[in-house]
Amino acid sequence: MPRKTKQKDSILRVVRETDSHPTALWVYEQVRKEIPNISLGTVYRNLKLLKWEGKISELALAGALSRFDGRVPGHYHFRCEKCGHVFDVDQPVQNELNQRLIAKTGFKVSYHILEFRGLCPRCQ
Ligand SMILES: [Zn+2]
Ligand SMILES: [Zn+2]
Repeated sequence: MPRKTKQKDSILRVVRETDSHPTALWVYEQVRKEIPNISLGTVYRNLKLLKWEGKISELALAGALSRFDGRVPGHYHFRCEKCGHVFDVDQPVQNELNQRLIAKTGFKVSYHILEFRGLCPRCQ
């Protein structure tokens, strides 16, 4: 397998095998166990690439460190304000919200992001 493909494959596997919504740094630390000479820059580049290919998604919200998610298509999240952990929320994505906005404003909506905030059971 070409080196580049191998790097990309292990990055994708690491992101998909966890439900912790890892940061790029965490992914880098895991992949490094397998490919010791990989650089953080390579991990960043591949994460962006995988995102553009629609294989993973990026949870980027103002003021928060970017996290990656191997669970696509879209679902909602809950972010704990104390420990920072991001959980998947078992709530159907409300696509009708997009339709409502389109009808009202004429914006061309691609998708929407919804994140609940509060305290997880461990932090309460
Ligand atoms: Zn918490
Ligand atoms: Zn998720």
